[in-house]
Amino acid sequence: MQEQKTFRCKDLGLACEFEEKAENENELMKRVEGHVQTAHQMNPEQPEVQEKIRKAMR
Ligand SMILES: [Zn+2]
Repeated sequence: MQEQKTFRCKDLGLACEFEEKAENENELMKRVEGHVQTAHQMNPEQPEVQEKIRKAMR
């Protein structure tokens, strides 16, 4: 069984309907990075941003 992970921008307190799923945390991070960068001007290379995103994953 795979540990599927989900990320929602709402969990970061953003007024955004973006939702993404992937089979693991690292894959999900890759998919979410592009979105937060273009849609929310967040820099996913910053450790604080990475941590925020990982904490919001469930
Ligand atoms: Zn978003």
